[in-house]
Amino acid sequence: MVKSCNKVIKSSSQCKAIGRLLNYKDLFYDEIRIDEGHVEIYAHGRKSYSRCPICGAKSHSVHSHYVRVLSSLPLHGKQVLIRLTTRRFRCKNSKCPRHVFSEQIAGVCEHHDRRTACATELLENLLLEVSARKGAFLSRPLGVPVSASTCLRILYRIPTAYVPEDDIHHICIDDFAFRKGKTYGTMIVEALTHQPLELFEGRTAEATEKVLSKYQHLETISRDRACAYAAAIEQAHPGLAQVADRFHLMQNCSRHLSSQLKISKQIIRDELLAAFPSGLPPSEEERQKSENMRSQKYFEPIRRLLEKGLSEEQICKRYHYKRLVVKECMREISRDNRKQSQQRLDEILEDKKLRIYVANPEYEVNRNTGECSERNIQMTRIIEASKTLSDLRSCYLAFQEVFKQKKTELLDRWIEKYRLSRLKEMASFSAGIEKDIVAVKNAIIYDMSNGPIEGLNNKLKAIKRQMYGRADYRLLMLKMSLSKTG
Ligand SMILES: [Zn+2]
Repeated sequence: MVKSCNKVIKSSSQCKAIGRLLNYKDLFYDEIRIDEGHVEIYAHGRKSYSRCPICGAKSHSVHSHYVRVLSSLPLHGKQVLIRLTTRRFRCKNSKCPRHVFSEQIAGVCEHHDRRTACATELLENLLLEVSARKGAFLSRPLGVPVSASTCLRILYRIPTAYVPEDDIHHICIDDFAFRKGKTYGTMIVEALTHQPLELFEGRTAEATEKVLSKYQHLETISRDRACAYAAAIEQAHPGLAQVADRFHLMQNCSRHLSSQLKISKQIIRDELLAAFPSGLPPSEEERQKSENMRSQKYFEPIRRLLEKGLSEEQICKRYHYKRLVVKECMREISRDNRKQSQQRLDEILEDKKLRIYVANPEYEVNRNTGECSERNIQMTRIIEASKTLSDLRSCYLAFQEVFKQKKTELLDRWIEKYRLSRLKEMASFSAGIEKDIVAVKNAIIYDMSNGPIEGLNNKLKAIKRQMYGRADYRLLMLKMSLSKTG
């Protein structure tokens, strides 16, 4: 309630001018009161009649009045309240069950609303991007103050974008963690438009089958390699083309490669020791460093003095060499290549990047100039020297090549080659592929992947965190389909 009023505008021309700012054609402005923090606009409907919401009959017969208070968008930081004198009309249609109805002025607000339509729209746009608590906090400076629970009510009233189920032909399906390690949900996305279609609790075959059976015109489904989804799809739509996701396939292959590296560590070590009997070749950097040291003009004299049996102390005192310089020369002379080579070997076998070097010969190669890094040259030499490492590299690259060349016969050949391989992990991966062969072949044939869903997964994570992980599925789905920023 406004206590002290600074300015009252009653002149119809001035009221009209301010009313024009609001742009409500069906309102007549009676009076405007401007206070320090508020603008109060007194208005009533311009039309002399209204239509019954039940039967649609026109009525001129006014029964009574009441005042509705609507909060609208602010004017220069002042909160705007519209005090709308609303009439109740009698419905004159004798067959209509409604006797009295309130007039609704089109475009101003909805039934029972306490805000104008434009204020509601502003809040809706805001609340789709931020949490209800933040929305409630921001609504105050925005001039349309609402509480956090009202924010939630506003959100729940927004209809989600509806896509007719019969129009859906290609979808992607994947799971997501609602709480990592505890509760999981499933997301279904339209493959072409990337429109989220479903978000539901659980990732079991039963739950998925129930949802999938709603979509009767499906042609292809892209999924990761989870058995539960494969079973659910087969149950809901027997014979439907299932496409295994290429990214998950490569990721799986890479995981098996890592395990194989761990298992074969001793074998690789033996192979490398046999290939380099005098120790692993030093890296380019190490070689350069050693060469630099030996070319220093003080190196030879100090070396000779050390050979004569003089101590570090004596050399420093008698010949005025710096202690640091003498120490460096001693280190260079006493360098034990065999010991260092052991160390280097251990470092390489423990290196987490070993998998990357094996899987990607192009790693650390400049794409523009084709120049290889020192490390790349060294690792290539090592991989080529070890049979296990080079076998693993060719196995991984051959699998990658299947998808690059998009030839299913290459996959058959790959399975044939590696199913009984001495590389046990790769053999087990190949057996897994054989079990899911139709979906994997479809991944080669169809130009379809779970890419859209992976992108939306990031959006989902952002929204989930924005709401401190307390969002329910309905709210999550709403924000997933309508939020612009995520
Ligand atoms: Zn009626």
